[in-house]
Amino acid sequence: MVEARKEVPDMDQIKIGKFIASCRKDQGMTQAYLADKLRISDRAVSKWETGKSLPDAGIMLELCDQLNINVNELLSGEKIMTETYNIKAEENLLAMRREVEEKNRQLLNLEIVVGAPATVAGLVLCVIAAYVEMPTGLRIGLIAFAVVMIIAAAFIAVGIEQKAGYYECRICHDRHIPTYWQTNLAPHIGRTRYMKCPACGKRSYQKKVLTKDVSDDDNTDRK
Ligand SMILES: [Zn+2]
Repeated sequence: MVEARKEVPDMDQIKIGKFIASCRKDQGMTQAYLADKLRISDRAVSKWETGKSLPDAGIMLELCDQLNINVNELLSGEKIMTETYNIKAEENLLAMRREVEEKNRQLLNLEIVVGAPATVAGLVLCVIAAYVEMPTGLRIGLIAFAVVMIIAAAFIAVGIEQKAGYYECRICHDRHIPTYWQTNLAPHIGRTRYMKCPACGKRSYQKKVLTKDVSDDDNTDRK
């Protein structure tokens, strides 16, 4: 009776046993080594592999860990679409990264869309104020308005730039998002800003990059 209860009719013990043996060999382990790792006798491992018994629930997770498989695979006696799953996961990741990159690119374009017209309009107002005949009060008002508009646009543009993508440290290549004021107050050449790196603590001209992932297309700004 006890023997009968140990048997699980739904599961193919032989198949599972062969699968355990094959995974163990893949990991370069002997039966004795695996048994030792699991603190059981190598006879127990042998019994699983020949399909005479199944690993009991208490040891299953640890066994799977050693064999580098999941419980689902162990019980199915085969790898479950791992390859398909990985490809899918990679594709999703790539698509996600592209989307973030595209969003950041659009944001940076927005920086120009917001910044450029306001700056041009401001300068035009200044020229009008300087050359067109008008009461002094209006002239001062016009210049003040132009200056405020240019400054406001610059602040908004920096805010957009700060939020879009990352800055990369020239020294340790850490990619990070600085605070708004750190960005705004940093001396800059275009979008390359002289800032302190939060990772290595050194100051350098940090360039704008679209993604967090260093290995991926980081040559957008590089010469
Ligand atoms: Zn750094």
